[in-house]
Amino acid sequence: MSEAPGPETSPKRHFIHQIIDEHIAHGRWGTPGDRSVVRTRFPPEPNGYLHIGHAKSITLNHGLAVEYGGAFILRFDDTNPEKEEQEFVDSITRDVAWMGGAWEGDVRFASDYFHQMYDWAVELIRKGFAYVDEQSAEQIRAGRGTLTEAGTDSPFRDRPVDDSVDLFARMKAGEFADGSKVLRAKVDMASPNLNLRDPVMYRIVNARHHRTGDEWHIYPMYDWAHGLEDSIEGITNSICTLEFENHRPLYDWFIAAINDGRGPGSEWGKAIHHPQQTEFARLNPTFVITSKRKLKQLVDEKHVEGWDDPRMPTISALRRRGYTPEAIRAFCTEIGTTKFNASHDYGLLENAVRDDLNKRAPRRMCVLRPLKVTITNWGEHGDADRVEWMEAVNNPEDDAAGTRQIPFGGTLSIERADFMEDAPKKFFRLKPGGEVRLRYGYWITCNEVIKDGDEVVELRCTYDPQTRGGDAPPPDAEGNVRKVKGTIHWVATSHAVPIEVRLYDRLFTAERPGKATGNPIDDLNPESLEVVERALLEPNWRTTDAEKAVGTGAFRDGIERFQFERLGYFCVDEKLTPDQAGDRPVFNRAVTLKDSWAKQAGK
Ligand code: ATP
Ligand code: MG
Repeated sequence: MSEAPGPETSPKRHFIHQIIDEHIAHGRWGTPGDRSVVRTRFPPEPNGYLHIGHAKSITLNHGLAVEYGGAFILRFDDTNPEKEEQEFVDSITRDVAWMGGAWEGDVRFASDYFHQMYDWAVELIRKGFAYVDEQSAEQIRAGRGTLTEAGTDSPFRDRPVDDSVDLFARMKAGEFADGSKVLRAKVDMASPNLNLRDPVMYRIVNARHHRTGDEWHIYPMYDWAHGLEDSIEGITNSICTLEFENHRPLYDWFIAAINDGRGPGSEWGKAIHHPQQTEFARLNPTFVITSKRKLKQLVDEKHVEGWDDPRMPTISALRRRGYTPEAIRAFCTEIGTTKFNASHDYGLLENAVRDDLNKRAPRRMCVLRPLKVTITNWGEHGDADRVEWMEAVNNPEDDAAGTRQIPFGGTLSIERADFMEDAPKKFFRLKPGGEVRLRYGYWITCNEVIKDGDEVVELRCTYDPQTRGGDAPPPDAEGNVRKVKGTIHWVATSHAVPIEVRLYDRLFTAERPGKATGNPIDDLNPESLEVVERALLEPNWRTTDAEKAVGTGAFRDGIERFQFERLGYFCVDEKLTPDQAGDRPVFNRAVTLKDSWAKQAGK
């Protein structure tokens, strides 16, 4: 499946390209041109939804496979039965596909390899590289030593091979209680790398697994399992984040131990494939948290409505919010791939969304907080009830998107914020006695302000029939041209469609949520969601065929996204589409047109 080029994977070169180029130059995994020369994988644990950090990993791994004509694999690392759920498998599969991370063949599961891993573990016992330890978890921990002190050997370290083989089989069969025994690798209790001090390979967990059910009573540890999964799938570059750099010697040790004594004519068989683990710095954007544990806390404690609440940094949430996979990939590619931990301004991701949606999103006019405007001279220039259809440009960035007709009549709605009774001089929108251009409509002048107490409830205005489409009127007798400074959006009230709009802001107000108090909850932004229950949208707002076919590229995921002029980019909520929400569809704001946080930061 990975032939489809990753849409926005620009070939921005980084150190992993160099590593791969060297492998290819030395023919490490075959001849250039073979699909086996570059094989990458994305190996999520199905214990939560994917977040923006995972998007980085998908973009990187899938991008490399595409660039080198190799293959990309989606594999669930489902080695921990207690925390894993089908809901997460489903959401992750959907999110990887949505990100454009087309994978080769079927989705893989580490649990499919449990039998093979078990056989290799037995082989390691027989070769003297592993033993069953009956110490408690605490004794094992104490025996590991510290950074400055060597560990001490387990009293079971040198037990006869046959005892270990037998006990291991009985662990597998479910004869023992959780935690009563483990299988450990026999590496080096004095190694300066603590990961090499006889790490645990298997633990007893008498729990039901979401795929294998009650078949297994032992489960492999990450370090043992991961390299074997990679090896089975022929992965060339096992790309992971920097925390695993210290685990690489163990990754290599396990595969070398399996290969010890293997080769032509060996009783153990052929050597197995030995991938190269390669580490890079994790993506760590400001204003978000990218720990599944902490995201789960937000969900469990109901600070958000769920994993896909549009304020969450999960891929599902970003999709619901209106972000595009192309924008997310562009961001992940643009920030580069390095070996140095750094944090990235969240505003860069928002800018990537703006850049993409500016090019591709059709424009519409929507009034969030309507103020009634009556055109008092509408009847003087024709039938007072008439509606005139005005031509509006669908996307100024792309003529192919065409134009649409929007209605103009004697009663309009404008944004409350576009009128000011006591306006300062620089206020170029509507004010008493002032004139403003209604985009694609006419110029109107405000003659009278109707109030109910302090509240302005209606503006009575006249329009100039010579300004149709928003054009300037012809010069007067003395040759003077009238000018107007402000242009505002509007809708014809009689034809407008009521919608609900959800205005999202950042979920946290702190650049590093939780840094000050240790608890990210303390940095939650109380204004991260504002619901506008009844905004007015122009009629016939659904995406047209011309818009879907524009040269800049329609939205492949079928989600309808728009620029509401002057307000930002919005999308139809995927759970509350017009069909599902009845007469008032719900729109989510993806991002404002300009970065208001940058302005604040600059102050
Ligand atoms: P968490 O720490 O949030 O639980 P994880 O790393 O344990 O995340 P996995 O499901 O194991 O989650 O991750 C799948 C892949 O995504 C791994 O290869 C991991 O290296 C990568 N990954 C996770 N977080 C990031 C990140 N912030 N930046 C880049 N890659 C990441
Ligand atoms: Mg992990």
